[in-house]
Amino acid sequence: QRPIFRTRPVVSLLHAGVFFAFVFYGLVNILDLLEGFTGFSTLHRSGVAALYNLIADLLSVAALAGMLGLLIRRFGLRPFRFNQRVLLLPSVRFGISRDSAIVGSFILLHVGSRWIGQAVRVAESGQPDWSQPTASLVATLFHGWSEAALTMASHVTWWLALGLILAFLPYFPYSKHIHLFMAPLNLILREARPLGQLEPPTSSDGTIGAERLEQLRWYQLLDAYACIMCNRCQDVCPAHGTGRALSPAALEINKRYYLNRNLAAFAGGATSPPLLEIATSKEAVWSCTTCAACVRICPVGNRPMLDLIDIRRALVNRGDPLDPNLQSALESLARYGNSFGKPARQRARWAKELPFSIKDARKEPVEYLWFVGDFASFDPRMQENTKTVAQLFQAAGLDFGILYEDERNAGNDVRRVGEEGLFEMLVEQNLAALKKAQFRAIVTTDPHTYNALKNEYPAYGFQVPVYHYTEVLAELLERGILRVQQPLRAAVTYHDPCYLGRYNRITAAPRRIIRALGLELREMPRHGENTYCCGAGGGQIWMDSGGQERPSEQRIREAVALGDDLRYFVVSCPKDMAMYSDAVKTTGYEGRLTVIDVARLVAVAIGIDGVEREAAPVESEAR
Ligand code: SF4
Ligand code: SF4
Repeated sequence: QRPIFRTRPVVSLLHAGVFFAFVFYGLVNILDLLEGFTGFSTLHRSGVAALYNLIADLLSVAALAGMLGLLIRRFGLRPFRFNQRVLLLPSVRFGISRDSAIVGSFILLHVGSRWIGQAVRVAESGQPDWSQPTASLVATLFHGWSEAALTMASHVTWWLALGLILAFLPYFPYSKHIHLFMAPLNLILREARPLGQLEPPTSSDGTIGAERLEQLRWYQLLDAYACIMCNRCQDVCPAHGTGRALSPAALEINKRYYLNRNLAAFAGGATSPPLLEIATSKEAVWSCTTCAACVRICPVGNRPMLDLIDIRRALVNRGDPLDPNLQSALESLARYGNSFGKPARQRARWAKELPFSIKDARKEPVEYLWFVGDFASFDPRMQENTKTVAQLFQAAGLDFGILYEDERNAGNDVRRVGEEGLFEMLVEQNLAALKKAQFRAIVTTDPHTYNALKNEYPAYGFQVPVYHYTEVLAELLERGILRVQQPLRAAVTYHDPCYLGRYNRITAAPRRIIRALGLELREMPRHGENTYCCGAGGGQIWMDSGGQERPSEQRIREAVALGDDLRYFVVSCPKDMAMYSDAVKTTGYEGRLTVIDVARLVAVAIGIDGVEREAAPVESEAR
């Protein structure tokens, strides 16, 4: 949870004070109850009792300060805002503030009564208690009170503190503070499944995906009750950040408020309204980039992204009309195995322009099977990079080959738009092609492909080591197989692709390359696993974004803020190359910032013929 502390240190500290006090107050309340009805007493100034009193005293202040701070933030600064397009149940609009006020008041009154009660008891003893420093300070306020008044105050505060629990209990299961039980449960019961591997699409009642609450998996319902309504997921969501109708927080909150109001009927087997009426909107569902930022940031382990994918699965399964561009991409994928609508025989056309031939892995054994990917194979803007990668592999003497026309789109994004049938077809076709080849490991240029091969294909019995090309290049450089001839001298920043950095935690290899080349790496505020989505994932690259600002444009501005002398925006994903090449133009930074694939920089530094001339001019020591 370190990144959560990093992103909101003050709020996290306030929340930590309340949380740890809440946990410890479980014991405090039991002991207070015993003290009230038996001769048992914790008022000892040495040993375990003193330690207990000290912890209770300090945590009481932490809880009071934390709760006050959180209430001021909630009602004074009002950070909890959704954009106008987000679907919110009417009960949620009013309910969020009401719940916060009730729970905040309960904690202030409960902890406050107990804390003042302890101060009264210190005053009754006539001596400050070193093990209750803050209560001793408050005790000075009772100086001069009669013994009877102190006894009365002690009784009133005791009854208030414990009586409030009884008053609050019936409300507790409906409040957001049920998360105090549900969140740990959510974290404990969370499956060990990799983030990059989706569950099979069949829901509990045998239908594909989920259109209604009862078709969600049990943990997707638990998510709603574990949610602490902190809005962190919304803050990092690129769709919400660019004004789309999607808020992963609103999705969970809507689910809970609906369930709270209809729990008895729901538990009794009643059919719930469609999720698209009570949880989120269709526009929101199709805005998700499946970047998983919401999943990673959630402090209680919620996975709102999975609900969105399940809704997509259900929509696709029942033939709901799709975005026309997406529809056409899916048709191309079904027909040709690529989203470009190009015949399969054109897949390796780029390789013909190389001064050497690449082995056909279907015909001769190779050590590395290079799964090139659609964008790297077909997009004319990416083909130069693809050829550069081939030249680097060749220069390093790597034994590699490709599948030529038998390679198909690996299906990562097809699965994430909910087209399960097509995904399975692509997997089958790729597995048939892979079966023809002999190789030790796979290397791929595309993080989306990497994710599918590494995390999705094992469910189909395919288990081989999979590497991203940055991992291979980093090792070749470090082992001296690729030698830097002219160290590069320029300030660069590196963008972590979601499916590489966040999903698969490959963040070190590209940075090792950048440093090995002599470049100065400046990190954007959002980097590594905390990266910001380019906006292409989850099928968005095939859809019409509706003319709104793109996440990639926000990202370019984030990079530009790193300094006027920042020259390169380094990428390691063909889709990023496409997205950011467009974004530097639309933001007006073309010429000021150059988007470049990390492989091109390696090629310049090691002096591969032909590439240095073509690559953007990097300031090298040689110049
Ligand atoms: S996966 Fe990304 S785009 Fe989708 S809801 Fe989560 S943060 Fe938003
Ligand atoms: S889903 Fe997680 S991150 Fe989002 S509001 Fe709920 S607790 Fe916070």
